[in-house]
Amino acid sequence: MMLPQDEARFKYCPLLKTSDDKFRMCQGDQCMMWRFKDPEKKGEGDEGYCGLAGKPMGA
Ligand code: SF4
Repeated sequence: MMLPQDEARFKYCPLLKTSDDKFRMCQGDQCMMWRFKDPEKKGEGDEGYCGLAGKPMGA
């Protein structure tokens, strides 16, 4: 799913959990798996995706 980083931060990450086993939100570019659509545009409102599932179709 391609979406702005500031929206991704409100989506659950499939890997991160709290100490009481609840899912945590995506960390955006603070995570090594985050990929920006355009490497020249790395702002909060710039689109990207979680690299865990590979590049989104049509990206
Ligand atoms: S980019 Fe990182 S923090 Fe965000 S969903 Fe993917 S693995 Fe989780």
